[in-house]
Amino acid sequence: MCVGARGERMNVILLGTGVGIPQADRAQSSLLIRDEDVLLIDCGAGAILRLGEIGMSPLEIDTVLLTHLHLDHVADLLPLAKARYLLGEPWLNIWGPVGTEELMRSLQSLYPYLRSIKLDVTEISAGCRFEICGFGVSSASAIHSVPALCYRIEGSRTVTCSGDTEPAASVSELASGSDLLVHECSFPDGFEVTNHTTPAALGRIVSDVGEIILTHFYPQCRGLEEDMARTVEQLSGIRTRAGMDLMSIYASAGK
Ligand SMILES: [Zn+2]
Ligand SMILES: [Zn+2]
Repeated sequence: MCVGARGERMNVILLGTGVGIPQADRAQSSLLIRDEDVLLIDCGAGAILRLGEIGMSPLEIDTVLLTHLHLDHVADLLPLAKARYLLGEPWLNIWGPVGTEELMRSLQSLYPYLRSIKLDVTEISAGCRFEICGFGVSSASAIHSVPALCYRIEGSRTVTCSGDTEPAASVSELASGSDLLVHECSFPDGFEVTNHTTPAALGRIVSDVGEIILTHFYPQCRGLEEDMARTVEQLSGIRTRAGMDLMSIYASAGK
């Protein structure tokens, strides 16, 4: 696949568009944002394999930003840190919601031989604005079964990532003016769901973004992904595509 040279344009690569239930072609949640630098958002099971598939070494990923701590978003985090340790860089910066520090210390304590890895954890909450890897990042609350954050990431383009959430005004407001919104769409219409998003509900709430990419598909979506994208597009009037693992998106210039 074409990944594009660093610094060429802000580039989003979906590493994992799946969930906790295994699907052959969808690793668990993870996406990579590249501009001048590289930022990994979430690191579910399969993420480090996907990194290998796009020719990236774990050494190139020194910072991970977590939306929330569900296992399908963090399962490959310690394996990523271990891979860096084995390659001679025994450290990793991790940014995430409250509870991230305790999670990482607990995981690390299970593996005495990995205790020398320096995990530098920064906990953040909604309404924060900070800088990591050369990106300006703003956070807002998502609506999920555990504390969850969505992020607006500003580099040469602006990309907003919903993480796991119900359709939420806080997410739409954070995304407003973004070139790209990567939004979860866990189930097709017809499913009564809480804590997650269905297409029509998303299409009605989102506005003022350049393009929408859907991700975080449960197996119930199989074969319906394009229809789901069409529903969002028709209701929002915004170009919408269904995400696939290893899809590379260049955030378009302007909206
Ligand atoms: Zn999830
Ligand atoms: Zn979740």
